[in-house]
Amino acid sequence: MTKASWLGLGVMGHPMAGYLSKFPAIDLTVYNRTTSKAEGWQNEYGGNTALTPLDAGNDAQFVFSCVGNDDDLRQVTFGEHGAFHSMPKGAVFIDHSTTSATVAREISAKASEMGLHFLDAPVTGGQKGAENGQLSIMVGGEPSAYEKAEPLILTYSKAVKHMGPSGAGQQTKMVNQIAIAGVVQGLSEAINFAQSNNLNIPDVLSVISKGAAQSWQMENSGQHMADRFFDFGFAVDWMRKDLNICIEEAKATNSPLPVATLVESYLGELHDNGRGRNDITSLVTRLKD
Ligand code: NAP
Repeated sequence: MTKASWLGLGVMGHPMAGYLSKFPAIDLTVYNRTTSKAEGWQNEYGGNTALTPLDAGNDAQFVFSCVGNDDDLRQVTFGEHGAFHSMPKGAVFIDHSTTSATVAREISAKASEMGLHFLDAPVTGGQKGAENGQLSIMVGGEPSAYEKAEPLILTYSKAVKHMGPSGAGQQTKMVNQIAIAGVVQGLSEAINFAQSNNLNIPDVLSVISKGAAQSWQMENSGQHMADRFFDFGFAVDWMRKDLNICIEEAKATNSPLPVATLVESYLGELHDNGRGRNDITSLVTRLKD
């Protein structure tokens, strides 16, 4: 029997933990800060619930998390009621949140001091990738801990790769977010231009998505953008968090991020207009609501 726990059952964590619950001979416990979500998950998938990360860590060989930002991760790991205080020696903590590389290294060092292992394992593939068990996952940390965790991570991913020491997973995710920022703004401008010229949007998307402009965002969100439907997906406020992490990290290597910086400011405008929880493709509304 593999004893494991999952912390954080949001847009991403809920389906990911669902796939993990199908791993052969797993005894899975879930924790969510808002307890009704943990009860809802249990009704759907079975397993056990815990009232705190501390309770969830008890006897767990593996603890997974998908929470929010750096401070949220600190709380569920070594905070007062964090899982690190109850996890048995040698256990592996796998974090799927997007955080700074600095906090990944900080928490990895704390884990080592406590006889535990920590992997920073951010994901890409969005809500749809999580719901289909088709995420792509980039991992930083000790190779031996990675090898132990890999079969479990594969239950909700189509690709998982060890990228290097602690922090390398988060740095790879930053590369991903820098690339996405420009793509979504470009797609916003393209769709707005098409609508302004009264072109048939499904036809436009159908033909150009088979050519050089193709992107995941175009295929999965293009029509939603045209319909101005944004009540799903990857929140504006999460992308702002991620781009600010990228902007901070880029200072260390003097890597210019002009487009990512501009898009971060656009997302700030959306936040101020009450769109903080909307999908990032709501960038199109800055051009025409
Ligand atoms: P979400 O729907 O807002 O869910 C966040 C989850 O974390 C909720 O379960 C929340 O609990 C929990 N949480 C937050 N702060 C906490 C704290 N201090 N203590 C305990 N639990 C806490 O977010 P999401 O979209 O699933 O994203 C989660 C992470 O994955 C973020 O780091 C995000 O950047 C990253 N990510 C998201 C996507 C995406 O497409 N959505 C894609 C890739 C990566 P409550 O239910 O009580 O609020």
